Amino acid sequence: MKAMRLHAARQALRCDTLPMPEPGPGQVLVKVSACGVCRTDLHLVDGELPQCRTPVTPGHEIVGTIAGSGERVGIPWLGWTCGACEHCRGGRENLCERARFTGYTLEGGYAEYVVADQRFCLPIPERYTDTEAAPLLCAGLIGYRCYRQIEQSRAIGIYGFGAAAHIVAQIAKAEDRTVFAFTKENDLTGQQFARSCGAHWAGDSTEIPPEPLDAAIIFAPVGGLIPLALRAVRKGGSVICGGIHMSDIPSFPYALLWGERVLRSVANLTRADGEAFMALAARVPLRIQTRGYPLADADRALEDLRAGRLEGAAVLLP
Ligand SMILES: [Zn+2]
Ligand SMILES: [Zn+2]
Repeated sequence: MKAMRLHAARQALRCDTLPMPEPGPGQVLVKVSACGVCRTDLHLVDGELPQCRTPVTPGHEIVGTIAGSGERVGIPWLGWTCGACEHCRGGRENLCERARFTGYTLEGGYAEYVVADQRFCLPIPERYTDTEAAPLLCAGLIGYRCYRQIEQSRAIGIYGFGAAAHIVAQIAKAEDRTVFAFTKENDLTGQQFARSCGAHWAGDSTEIPPEPLDAAIIFAPVGGLIPLALRAVRKGGSVICGGIHMSDIPSFPYALLWGERVLRSVANLTRADGEAFMALAARVPLRIQTRGYPLADADRALEDLRAGRLEGAAVLLP
């Protein structure tokens, strides 16, 4: 089978021909029909994630069919947990000390086939095509875990309007919340895209929104957004960071945090998040915007993501 693999950080992926992967106990062999390209894949390729062993096949937004049964499943970032550590036993397997992650510490979906632990595969709502469903597996899922942290907040800011934001904005709108979208300066196309996804207001990340925010979610990997988001959030509000990696946070006056503002990160996902999010995606018709690329063009998809040339999500189609 063909796989686009990372052999060394900051190098182009290589198209390798590999033996068919063989499922071990509890695992299934999945024929990949679509695999989303996530910003985490860029951090991986750029050598910004610790513990990265190469060569590795990236990709953790996998939709495919189980060989033999033909059942359609999704394979997310969380690929395996120990079930025994304090976090696993406390219902926070996303923090498992020994967790394994698809397309990082496990082989991922930039390939024709992949094996996965069946217990970590997710159902895919029927209303989505394979291509549309792929971004649900991380952009949607991690976006949803961030979104849940804002609790009852009505006015929500979203910083960085990519694949995750375009899904979260639609969920927020469906739940009668007001979304304020923040993009790079003068990214008028991105701001228009945000409005088309239900944002009430869209502007530059340096702008003060027309009303104070109850909460903000930061999806862009830019530490400088934290003081900006704190400044836009009212007393008692939260700022949630959804990315796995972020540039350093500049120092800022304590006054921005004072007033019981909360700053927190969201890490990974649990299977319960996956099930809850897929049930929501089955109920709320999400319009998922994608751009398809042949598997061999994985590098081009990554570069388009890096350059901000995408609206919505890039999806590789083997
Ligand atoms: Zn564990
Ligand atoms: Zn991801």
